[in-house]
Amino acid sequence: MNVTDQQKRYTLDFGTGWAYDPAPESTDHISLKKKYGHFINGKFVEPAEGNYFETINPATEEKLADIAVGSKADVDAAVKAARKAYDKVWSKMPASERGRYIYRIARMIQERAREFAVIESMDGGKPIRESRDVDVPLAAAHFFYYAGWADKLNYAFPGRTPAPLGVAGQIIPWNFPLLMAAWKIAPALATGNTVVLKPAETTPLTCLKLAEIMQEAGLPDGVVNFVTGAGDTGAAIVNHQDINKIAFTGSTAVGKLIQRSIAGSGKKLTLELGGKAANIIFEDAPLDQAVEGIVNGIFFNQGHVCCAGSRLFVQEGVADAVHQKLTDRLETLIVGDPLDKNTDIGAINSKEQLDRINSYIEIGLNEGAAITQSSCSIPSKGYFCRPTLLQNVSQASRVVQEEIFGPVLTIQTFRTPDEVLEKANNTPYGLSGGVWTDKGSKIFRMTSGIDAGVLWANTFNKFDPTSPFGGYKESGMGREGGLHGLLPYLKI
Ligand code: ADP
Repeated sequence: MNVTDQQKRYTLDFGTGWAYDPAPESTDHISLKKKYGHFINGKFVEPAEGNYFETINPATEEKLADIAVGSKADVDAAVKAARKAYDKVWSKMPASERGRYIYRIARMIQERAREFAVIESMDGGKPIRESRDVDVPLAAAHFFYYAGWADKLNYAFPGRTPAPLGVAGQIIPWNFPLLMAAWKIAPALATGNTVVLKPAETTPLTCLKLAEIMQEAGLPDGVVNFVTGAGDTGAAIVNHQDINKIAFTGSTAVGKLIQRSIAGSGKKLTLELGGKAANIIFEDAPLDQAVEGIVNGIFFNQGHVCCAGSRLFVQEGVADAVHQKLTDRLETLIVGDPLDKNTDIGAINSKEQLDRINSYIEIGLNEGAAITQSSCSIPSKGYFCRPTLLQNVSQASRVVQEEIFGPVLTIQTFRTPDEVLEKANNTPYGLSGGVWTDKGSKIFRMTSGIDAGVLWANTFNKFDPTSPFGGYKESGMGREGGLHGLLPYLKI
């Protein structure tokens, strides 16, 4: 009998009586081309220098497609198309008509939701449950939300005259490829700007499928352009003379580089960078609910979330109980095939990222951390990481201070609210945080004391297009989402 890794895993994880049968999402409704050019001026075009790179499935290490490498000439062609579309069509069009295109894009994402979810999981490694229930519906919701604002901008900023900026250059990371594209494109279009966007090099496919939707929706040529490639392509966008606004989501290191390179250029800038969120559990918290929130905050989605709750602070009286509950829950998490509907933790996005996570686990151990890892089996092929807890860490530990971007949770204890506030704020980052308690007064005390742009109380990692998202300190500047998300794309 041919026993697959998957079947072995279920048997090992659950023993007899508790095995879930594999429930993989089918891929037969997916159509992917072997090779993708850039999407410029409404058409897929060959890259000027003729170079391609491979995008692979991180769960199988198999190639999915060849993707064009964007040179300066490609970026220039995309910016020229975006400028022409801005001058001649998009900025002249009645706002209600612009809104209609955006609504159409939202509806078409919904119609093709299954296809998008499967491709997102194949290209990025995230569990199908996440891409199906979070990424794709939220991407559609963002287009719906901003479509509604297109003809109401005068009401958004009463007494002022909002005007678009021109061409927006947008660069996004690999953790939420379609959703980040939606976060960036929807407000740009609603405010009358045109777009040149670069997806991350490991996850270009859903953007290129979104390009198909732009074509089918009849969006005028050049309004949205996608140029693929790595850092050099991103830098060509950042440094292009005829771009009016840069929106970047990615690492703090690259964010700082971008801020330096556009200084004095007059380009508007928003940066959504790294995070090291504190998730704080008080003794009076509902512990089972809190443990589930912690798991959702750092382990689902492989910890590939900039707002992940990667630092856990537990009040001393419940520290042992929480650790035990977490350890037990870790054992039940299913690590494996991203396309399987039972999977909790999919593949790490790339070998490079897996090596980085493993090196941080090593650093933690060298710093004296005590490690608890799930004993689950992981597939022999592909990039996978067991969910990991690191205890006996201190504020000075690198694993507590630096962003790991993987399923690794550090655990520290505290006695008083003041102590935990000081510890929570003692990082260079300020993107998000969470607090678990039965007392409303403690929620207000903590959420007003934590320097972070997004705070959750008795829940974690919940998103909505109406709610602004963004960071303080080295987590970035500017807000995306909600009314605030319109401002970076307007002169008012
Ligand atoms: P991550 O750690 O999330 O991969 P990066 O900041 O390296 O973060 O990548 C985020 C996005 O920024 C990707 O699309 C990447 O190709 C792009 N990028 C990387 N280096 C640069 C750069 N120097 N200028 C502009 N974009 C860049």
